[in-house]
Amino acid sequence: MKRVRRIGRDEANFRSEVKAAAGYNGVSLNVEENLMPIEKNQVVLFHYSVRDEQDNVVEDSHGGEPNAYLHGHGGIIKGLEEALEGRDAGDTFSVTVTPEKAYGPRKPDAIQRVPIKHLMGAKRWKAGMVAQVRTEHGPRHVVVAKVGHKFADVDTNHPMAGRTLTFDIEVIEVRAATSEEIAHGHAHGPGGHHH
Ligand code: ZN
Repeated sequence: MKRVRRIGRDEANFRSEVKAAAGYNGVSLNVEENLMPIEKNQVVLFHYSVRDEQDNVVEDSHGGEPNAYLHGHGGIIKGLEEALEGRDAGDTFSVTVTPEKAYGPRKPDAIQRVPIKHLMGAKRWKAGMVAQVRTEHGPRHVVVAKVGHKFADVDTNHPMAGRTLTFDIEVIEVRAATSEEIAHGHAHGPGGHHH
């Protein structure tokens, strides 16, 4: 399918100069190329920043490599995957995602008492710090709620649970997945899985 591609500001400036020069010679240029709107079984590379309800930036991928995921396999939060459907490389947009389509609601019964020696990641603990604990499902991050003499109360909710998050997204690249990526259910290469 041929469509006019949306282009970045620098490229737009460059192209308008080229067009002006071309127009001078009576030549017209078309800025067209094949697009691949995001759909299932495509690998998407994107940059993002995440803001909370108070507009604080809680995470930002700019400065590192873009995040890569396999579309349609639940590899990123639901609200984000839905918002990315049908977008093209070069698109930028913002989407606000409720907890139900992000990291779930906060569970009030998720406070657990654990021995302090089981907390990993620091020597001294106080409320609000994020610790790692081993569980039967592998290592997991918890938020320290209260510290006693030998035991600590930890909140096992995901740190972003219950939060309404706004994502500012920049789609960097869209490509077809390899059969191996589809079989594994995730993207390989830069920003994806390395194994
Ligand atoms: Zn793999």
